[in-house]
Amino acid sequence: MLTRLKELFHKIPALRSMKVYIFLLMLIMGILPSIFMRVGILQSYEERAVDLRTSDTQTQFKIIANHLLNNNYLQDTSSEAINAELEQMSNLYDGRVIIINNNFRVVKDTYSISEGKTMISEEVILCFKGQGSTKYDKKNGYIEMTIPIEETSSGKSQTASPDTVKKDNAGQVQGVMLASVSTDSIAATMEILNRKAMIIEIVMIICIFGVAVGFSTILVKPFNRVTQAITEVKDGFTDEPIAVPDYIETEHIINAFNQLLTQMKVIDDSRQEFVSNVSHELKTPLTSMKVLADSLMQQQDAPLALYQEFMQDIADEIERENKIINDLLSLVKMDKTAAQMNISSVDVNELIESVLKRLRPIARLRDVEVVFESIRPVTAELDDVKITQVFTNLVENAIKYNKEHGWVKVLLDADHQFFTVEISDSGIGIPESDYDHIFERFYRVDKSHSREIGGTGLGLAITRNAVLLHRGSVKVSSLEGQGTCFTVKIPLTYVR
Ligand code: ADP
Repeated sequence: MLTRLKELFHKIPALRSMKVYIFLLMLIMGILPSIFMRVGILQSYEERAVDLRTSDTQTQFKIIANHLLNNNYLQDTSSEAINAELEQMSNLYDGRVIIINNNFRVVKDTYSISEGKTMISEEVILCFKGQGSTKYDKKNGYIEMTIPIEETSSGKSQTASPDTVKKDNAGQVQGVMLASVSTDSIAATMEILNRKAMIIEIVMIICIFGVAVGFSTILVKPFNRVTQAITEVKDGFTDEPIAVPDYIETEHIINAFNQLLTQMKVIDDSRQEFVSNVSHELKTPLTSMKVLADSLMQQQDAPLALYQEFMQDIADEIERENKIINDLLSLVKMDKTAAQMNISSVDVNELIESVLKRLRPIARLRDVEVVFESIRPVTAELDDVKITQVFTNLVENAIKYNKEHGWVKVLLDADHQFFTVEISDSGIGIPESDYDHIFERFYRVDKSHSREIGGTGLGLAITRNAVLLHRGSVKVSSLEGQGTCFTVKIPLTYVR
């Protein structure tokens, strides 16, 4: 049932429109009170009119009841004056009067239908006990009432009070007057009042409808302006922050949008910078290769040794190009979400040993000594390919940016939560002002030196991304001319 309603809700766009809700709300709030007012006023008019009619007629019937007793009418109904009085009353109120004596016999009926008959009903019996009654029969348009015809202690007759009449000790109910009075005139007045109220109501509904249409359109306008402003940015007409301050709500939406816009601009700027850096980095080896090839071609009868030397240089440039592309691919892979992580339990000591084993030949070439010290055996949940890349990059840098007869020391330690690897070297060091930048893509402290020793400027960016994917951190501290220390800290248990 609920899902059906939800489906319907989504199928009919109007059911999700704020404009429609405001319109309906205003319409309902405007129309309902006028309907309640009309019905309420008519109802209280009816109650009041019926009450008045009841008390009016009761007073008159009480007077007639007195006349009845004084003229002994219950025993002898021949009194012309009384009969005329009764006829006049029933004509005046378009009603009927029935007089019942203490034997429950009808002595007079202005309709002449029930005369002589016996009439016993609950109301009549109660009335003989002194309790008169009134009943409004709305459906048939009549007020029915019973009035006791009773004697007073002074010998004179009196009638009971309207609804609950308690017979006093001296009084004695001699008969009952049963009267019904038409309320047609009340109904007719109500009909006229209702018609007039309806006309006013219809005029009001038309006005409220117009006001609701107008207001609902005006009230949602700021939201249309928000959409328009965002569309303008989307279509590229502007990339300036937008403003729709009409409501606090629209201001919040716009503020959030402007923040997103700023973020996207930053991303776009860094993407553009990255693309231009990539093109530049990829073009450099190509330019070298072209220069080498051109100079070979320009020389006729160039010696074989020169050919071999130039071809070796070209091969080196190809190798460099290949390295940049591989590093870029690694970086792109790291940029993806943690879903691509291939986590397993890894022996960190073993992993570092194997990294150092592969790098020792390069270290030997540069006459750099590599030492590994492990405080304790460490096993952690890691993506071993990515972590291998982290330590390879850091140790390779420590070897590359070292001095002759230098050293590189790798220290592994762990506590109950993290393991830390410190890679320190006796190298050229990094100026403090560059600490924040060295992890950026293509950033190099000394561009020509880095290129000379085969750097792509992507190693530390890859390293940082890989460490962050493990929810770890990498920090650098260095003394220029004396050496550098990179500290990697990674949780032993992988946090998803
Ligand atoms: P590259 O491929 O140029 O080595 P990286 O991203 O690995 O690029 O390093 C960025 C820069 O940080 C390097 O160009 C270098 O200037 C500096 N750097 C990195 N590691 C060290 C280190 N151990 N000693 C001195 N400088 C370093």
